[in-house]
Amino acid sequence: MRLILLGPPGAGKGTQAKILMDKHRIPQLSTGDILRGAIAAGTALGAAAKEVIDRGDLVSDDIMVGIISERIDADDCADGFILDGFPRTIPQATALDGLLADKGLELDAVIELTADTDTLVGRILNRARESGGARPDDTEEVVRNRLAVYRKQTEPLADYYKNHGLLRTVDGLVPIDDVSAQIERVLG
Ligand code: ADP
Repeated sequence: MRLILLGPPGAGKGTQAKILMDKHRIPQLSTGDILRGAIAAGTALGAAAKEVIDRGDLVSDDIMVGIISERIDADDCADGFILDGFPRTIPQATALDGLLADKGLELDAVIELTADTDTLVGRILNRARESGGARPDDTEEVVRNRLAVYRKQTEPLADYYKNHGLLRTVDGLVPIDDVSAQIERVLG
């Protein structure tokens, strides 16, 4: 099964990706985790991405498409994958369509988790406090920028995937288990 999890920062994509990963035995491909790994490892990619990420802006489409194209060729993606944090722009979505077509693969569904901005800001700042502020992009100012970037650049993907007949929208404000149950229902 090949899935995309779409939704603003703090909507619970990572949480649901992990539940789906265990249930369906397919890997979660989190571009945020991949980029933070590159920063921690001190690679050229990490160095190039750090400033952009710390501002809450987006890393360039070319870089992200290259990372994902390579990642979905790995053996562990043979039975599918869950994309978390990619695509984030319309050019990334059209590039993904192209590279999946080249590889002879198709998406099964795009699951959109919805939530309002104030709830999301509260969740992220709370999570940051609980984890000791592990992410430099979790300050209120940067979180609000990440959400603004989401509304402007990523939210249009919902219509894009609706037009492709792939969009399944789920309420991200209910408890974790209820979100999972809704996801299983829409995956039918
Ligand atoms: P969030 O909690 O904001 O959804 P992620 O962990 O998915 O955060 O990503 C953190 C940061 O990494 C983003 O704010 C962005 O700078 C960068 N990033 C992650 N995925 C992408 C992508 N597909 N395109 C561009 N930038 C990305």
